[in-house]
Amino acid sequence: MEQEERVIFHVDVNSAFLSWSALKRLEEDPGSVDLRMIPSAVGGDVKTRHGVITAKSIPAKKYGVQTGEPVVKALKKCPQLVLVPSDFETYRKYSRAMMEILARYTPLLQQMSIDEAFLDLTERISPRDREGALELARQIRDTVRQELGFTVNVGISSNKLLAKMASDFQKPDRTHTLYPEEVPAKMWPLPINDLYGCGKQTAQKLQLVGINTIGDAAAADLELLQTVLGERTGLHIHNSSKGISRSKVTPEREQAKSVSNERTLSKDVDRDNYQSEGLPVIRRLSEKVAERLQKAGLVGQTVTFQVKSADFDRYSRQTTLSGMTDRAEEIEATALYLADHLLNGPEGLFDKGLSIRLIGVGVSRLTGRQMQQMDLFAWAEQNEQEEEERKAAEKRLAARARQEKLNAMMDQINGRFGSGTVKKGK
Ligand SMILES: [Mg+2]
Repeated sequence: MEQEERVIFHVDVNSAFLSWSALKRLEEDPGSVDLRMIPSAVGGDVKTRHGVITAKSIPAKKYGVQTGEPVVKALKKCPQLVLVPSDFETYRKYSRAMMEILARYTPLLQQMSIDEAFLDLTERISPRDREGALELARQIRDTVRQELGFTVNVGISSNKLLAKMASDFQKPDRTHTLYPEEVPAKMWPLPINDLYGCGKQTAQKLQLVGINTIGDAAAADLELLQTVLGERTGLHIHNSSKGISRSKVTPEREQAKSVSNERTLSKDVDRDNYQSEGLPVIRRLSEKVAERLQKAGLVGQTVTFQVKSADFDRYSRQTTLSGMTDRAEEIEATALYLADHLLNGPEGLFDKGLSIRLIGVGVSRLTGRQMQQMDLFAWAEQNEQEEEERKAAEKRLAARARQEKLNAMMDQINGRFGSGTVKKGK
């Protein structure tokens, strides 16, 4: 069976956002207290104390502080809780650095979210060499800790589901195995809602028919599970409670995929008609690109602006943003900024007397939208309320950061072209 044939690791950062915020703070102020050592949490608005907790330290967990709960509630449980704001720029930096380390061990690397990844190490270690697997896990943990300063858990098994379950056992800085033969002892005693892919609603339905542990579900008839949960979810719970999963580690293609759009202009554009003929096209192209990104659930980090001159030469400029985007306004502002350099700047094409007949806008270095943590497996349930709240909170913060950046860019553009060239959003 395929189940026995693979060596799968799941690497998961311990209290990722909190650890990364702690490291950033220590970097800026080496004398300050390590947030990981005190009751602390990331999330909400630090000043107004609104919003929800998106990550907590292990000392905070001891006070019962939970991810996804309102900041106000967490402060009631733990009045001395130190709150810090989210800092996605820092998080992406550490995330990328960790993925680069993990990629040293195998090309079969699948990043699942900002702080976790699956590795298929079958080419490196024989599935029978369990000591070798433990040794390699220790090496990965040590390397991440020594090079980057934070700890990870590693779960080891022969499939993704069990490796993921294993990495969630005792934290921090641990390796756990959950091989198929260990499932009865290590997984069946756990409450049913600990089963990966079993959402709150599914767990409640199962509890109503007396299925309280993963072992209860494993012992139940498929027919009963399907009657209670429906055909698809019933089958999924039936299989996963027994530790069966066929999902493969599928690495993301390395080469930068991109989404772009270009348009041939109705008349050649030079400095004189750039504002009237060029700017509206850049806006429409940016909107189109954003729409396609959003539809595909993608965000990208590099924006490219491209033109074809009247003598058919192509010119392009690109820049990498500090964050990911799928927003028309940000793409447009960036494209305008690049266009400014390429066309209007000193040594620009207009200065050289060239006119342009085609404009293109593109976004590359794409990844799935951040925080699609529940996308882990095709069958995973997506309706975990806590996860939703957390995602919403993160989105709001990210949106605010983007807007601030966009406004700054707009100021810069207006400064160059005269005010009113581009208008700020709210
Ligand atoms: Mg984690």
